[in-house]
Amino acid sequence: MSEDCIFCQIVAGDIPSRTVYEDDTVFAFLDANPLSPGHTLVIPKAHHERLNDTPADVAGEVLSTLHELVPAVEAAVDAPASTVAFNNGEAAGQEVPHVHGHIVPRFEDDGGRPIHALVTDRPDLSDDELDDIEDDIVAEQA
Ligand code: 5GP
Ligand code: ZN
Repeated sequence: MSEDCIFCQIVAGDIPSRTVYEDDTVFAFLDANPLSPGHTLVIPKAHHERLNDTPADVAGEVLSTLHELVPAVEAAVDAPASTVAFNNGEAAGQEVPHVHGHIVPRFEDDGGRPIHALVTDRPDLSDDELDDIEDDIVAEQA
């Protein structure tokens, strides 16, 4: 637990939350400032800042819980779809530095945008640049 982390305090029960799922590793609760009815956050109980810092087994459990909860959340609020996303790091808009997946139920004509609306200035990458990026990502895993 990280003492000054708001999500660690929620897991510990020091800050109340509307809890929708809990097991030994994962915790899920309603977002306090929902983007839509049913907006849910799924987190590991242990404090890890980003996906990059999260052990693979824990990340797997978070994803597995997202997989279970997405249909339950959609059904609960009668949503035909949802946006499921992580703001992974401060530059990507992450405000609470305890890794969390958002489930945002989506509705026809809700005024929301797809994930492609995240960035307005798209890069115009050449085939060579794309090839280099492909190679670099593969090399980083070696
Ligand atoms: P981020 O921008 O870091 O991806 O998302 C953080 C989310 O946490 C926001 O959607 C915000 O509404 C939610 N949040 C922040 N503080 C609290 C809190 O104390 N309780 C709950 N339930 N949600 C919170
Ligand atoms: Zn934390």
